[in-house]
Amino acid sequence: MLHNKSYLKRGRGGKVFKAVKEHYLRDDIWCSVECCTICSHTEPILSSIPAKTKLVTKPHYIIPDTNVFMNQIDIIEHPALQNVIILQTVYEELRHLSLSVYNRLKKMINDPNRKFYVFANEHHRDTFIERIKEESPNDRNDRAIRAAVKWYATHVKQIADKGKSLEIVLLTDDAENIQRAKQDGLLAYSVREYVEGMIDTPELVDMLGNVRISDNKDKKIVYEEHLSASQITNGIKNQTLYQGTLNISMHNYLEGSIQNGDIQITILGRKNLNRAIQGDIVAVQLFPKSEWLRAPTAVIVEEEEEKNLAEELQENCKPKEQSEEADSDLFEAPQPTGKVVGIIKKNWRPYCGFINKQSVKGSSTSTLSENVSVYPIDRRIPRINIRTRQAQNLMGQRILVAIDSWHKDSIFPMGHFVKALGAAGDKLTETEVLLLEHDVPHQEFAQQVLNCLPVEGDLWVVKDEHLQRRADLRHLNVCSIDPPGCTDIDDALHVRQLPNNNYEVGVHIADVTHFVKPNTPLDEEAALRGTTVYLINKRIDMLPGLLGTNLCSLKSKVDRLAFSCIWELSPEAEIVNVTFTKSIISSKESFTYEEAQARIDDQRLQDDLTKGLRVLNDLAKKLRARRMERGALTLASPEVRYKLDFDSQDPIDVEMKELRETNALVEEFMLLANISVAEKIYKKFAASSLLRRHPPPTAFKLDNLNKAISAFGLTLHYETSKALADSLDEAVLPEDPYFNKLLRILTTRCMMQATYFCSGTFSVHEYRHYGLASEIYTHFTSPIRRYSDVIVHRMLAASIYDDEVYGSELIDKKKIEQLCDVLNHRHRMAQMAARSSVELHTNLFFKGKTEQVEGYVTRVLKNGFVVLVQKYGIEGIVYSSDNSKTKLNTTASNSTSLIIYNSHDNSLDSITGDGKKISIKLFDKVIVQVSVDEDLVGGGAGGMRQKLKLELVKPVVPGLSVSNDTSTDNNEIIEENNYNNKKDKRENTNGGRKKKMKIENM
Ligand SMILES: [Zn+2]
Repeated sequence: MLHNKSYLKRGRGGKVFKAVKEHYLRDDIWCSVECCTICSHTEPILSSIPAKTKLVTKPHYIIPDTNVFMNQIDIIEHPALQNVIILQTVYEELRHLSLSVYNRLKKMINDPNRKFYVFANEHHRDTFIERIKEESPNDRNDRAIRAAVKWYATHVKQIADKGKSLEIVLLTDDAENIQRAKQDGLLAYSVREYVEGMIDTPELVDMLGNVRISDNKDKKIVYEEHLSASQITNGIKNQTLYQGTLNISMHNYLEGSIQNGDIQITILGRKNLNRAIQGDIVAVQLFPKSEWLRAPTAVIVEEEEEKNLAEELQENCKPKEQSEEADSDLFEAPQPTGKVVGIIKKNWRPYCGFINKQSVKGSSTSTLSENVSVYPIDRRIPRINIRTRQAQNLMGQRILVAIDSWHKDSIFPMGHFVKALGAAGDKLTETEVLLLEHDVPHQEFAQQVLNCLPVEGDLWVVKDEHLQRRADLRHLNVCSIDPPGCTDIDDALHVRQLPNNNYEVGVHIADVTHFVKPNTPLDEEAALRGTTVYLINKRIDMLPGLLGTNLCSLKSKVDRLAFSCIWELSPEAEIVNVTFTKSIISSKESFTYEEAQARIDDQRLQDDLTKGLRVLNDLAKKLRARRMERGALTLASPEVRYKLDFDSQDPIDVEMKELRETNALVEEFMLLANISVAEKIYKKFAASSLLRRHPPPTAFKLDNLNKAISAFGLTLHYETSKALADSLDEAVLPEDPYFNKLLRILTTRCMMQATYFCSGTFSVHEYRHYGLASEIYTHFTSPIRRYSDVIVHRMLAASIYDDEVYGSELIDKKKIEQLCDVLNHRHRMAQMAARSSVELHTNLFFKGKTEQVEGYVTRVLKNGFVVLVQKYGIEGIVYSSDNSKTKLNTTASNSTSLIIYNSHDNSLDSITGDGKKISIKLFDKVIVQVSVDEDLVGGGAGGMRQKLKLELVKPVVPGLSVSNDTSTDNNEIIEENNYNNKKDKRENTNGGRKKKMKIENM
């Protein structure tokens, strides 16, 4: 049956015309109840005996309305809710309202255990309704929902006539809707009413979205009203307001900033942040110049006493101590400040956190519902008030909470409990926390993803049919070189001399796209994950293990499919030509860096493979020299590697990563392959190539660094990467060999991030990769663990084979651009998760230990300074100011005010009793005492929020330094002996080890 739906539409020129949309009504839409004999259905989803509750005493199916999904999705996600009917009306509304809620619901629908059925009520002859005159679309949809509920209620009564009974329950938090449904004789309840009737799952009550819990007894308005959407739009249009993504400082949760074009606006204090949360897109109003910032702000140590918060919020949040700073400005020009006047797009997500013990009032046996505050693990997120009956149980645990609302008369946002993650300090719990906090998808692969794998499983082998369109390179002396224990081998190499004395060099990359076809569930999952994530003790794969560590992995002594990039190079490593081909290879050896190096060095070995390694090494050196000549940078990061105990996976030792020539060998040819492939795909896909760029650094940050090293008579030039590379090479202090490395670390931090982009969205001169000094670059060499490389493989195949079939995924500029956004986000999160994992293991390592070690000052703040301890690759703040809690542990806490921030030299100065001046500034070598701060506001033991405590030992600053305790040195010697005994155990090569660390972020 065809049903015409006509409506008026305004055309481009303002002309009104009538549009007609065809709407089919069908008779074959079934109820999907298993025992129904009225409908003819093949695979019913809804169970014949759905659950009953204390409230609804008969077995029943649930039909929630749109707002229930929008506001209570955590409840809906609870496994106790089954046999749910999703009306098409609701499903479509959700898709428009919130893609994230829609996607979460989609997941539940795909889970057969949940028994969620989508009922196409808009196409059902008996449930479709026309919108009546004067009726708003909302009212029409509410009526459509009630009509469908009514149909279902009647229908299930017919199914269950013989003594049995089945009911339909409408879930809605709209009082009027409940009223009307009841008038129609339907069962309708609010979510709270319904959930309170589910007595077997009391935690559900805690998970109810909280719209209002006040933390502000006097109900004083504490925040300014946000501007309306139209006011914001106008303000941005006429440039009185600035739009940007709010970024809260890691060192100070009351300091945020937005970047709008070239200007960065700092937002200071709770009141000016005006309920905006990290990541929100906000509208900011600029303050008059007189209120701009002239010196760096102080760090906030821990959550301050919050009893006077309401008063604090009434004050004006101007940067403090402006006046006394006036004639010794640190900034060349004052930094713009402003306040948030509206939130354009919220970026709320579920947050991991812990309950503040002080906020729990009930007795230890209490199960009454009470208001408690939750401190998110992410220090940039404000504490969240929730209502819970499980406060006693949840203390000392990591929990997941969601924010529901933030009213202008409430100091903190309100939210609800989502789930408990486990005991604080437990390594598994904390690893789960860091994965959640960094938005790393880490569930097991779903069955529909696994269904895309070859049916032969690990018995899959290369067959003759694979030779089609592939070069058979199995006769070549191909080998791979990787870190020890590497099981996901992406790349392998070969070299042979040509009759003309030139060399043929091949880089062979796992042919992942042979197995991962576009638009399959496997492809979608890999695109969503974006990258494999390497933690200290764990690896979260982008592809299922069968592919990643077996069928795609270029293991030795088996035939594997590859995508090969083959150059003819002159003996001087000049490219004569390059070809690309899909291939079959058979790697002869899987070397570790160490093994390959040993082969090269052992002159007694004269076999072809070893000779090949020497040629490759020689060519790589020439390539590298040429790259350096062009101005490629050698950057640095304080990377260390933890050795884990084999059984417990606890860190037992730490070492600096050692780089051998063979690391550089592999790196050099991978860079070359990436560049050659970038050039090739750009020829075919000029507007939609997936490339990687690295913009030059901004002057501001490097200027600050320059100011600091001018004290040593040094300057960095950075007009070009060549100038920077040269001045870095020259910046050497003979008396301090570590200085140059430290300067490179700090220079690296001034760099912009390298990012993926779609060639059509930038102009050609912006393609440049500053760090690698290359005009064009992409990622091709690691398709097992990076999705960018999967797309690039498809583009390369389309570039070399005329008959290659491909779709919009390779030519749609918009799609590539969106994919790049996702990949950049995943990539950044993966790096941060890896860093958090190091931090977690560092804390485990220092648990119960105190050690005094050498470090360098890498940043001077108003009330403290940051120290990098190179031995452990850790960095932390030594606090010097009054509001620091650490000072209570120091020897002379009554004299701390002696340390003064000198903005002119960017140093912290102290005058000792005998009138001597001690100054702490950037690049100073200091000795600090490292321990783990166990005592945190309600945080309990361990975990990501736990902090390393750094205290100054030397230079001796009265009121700040702790005593030089030599007994720790003895401890160290004992550790040392221990370590020798454990040598065997330490050889554990964990799967978490990251490959080719050095070029990873290039
Ligand atoms: Zn039926």
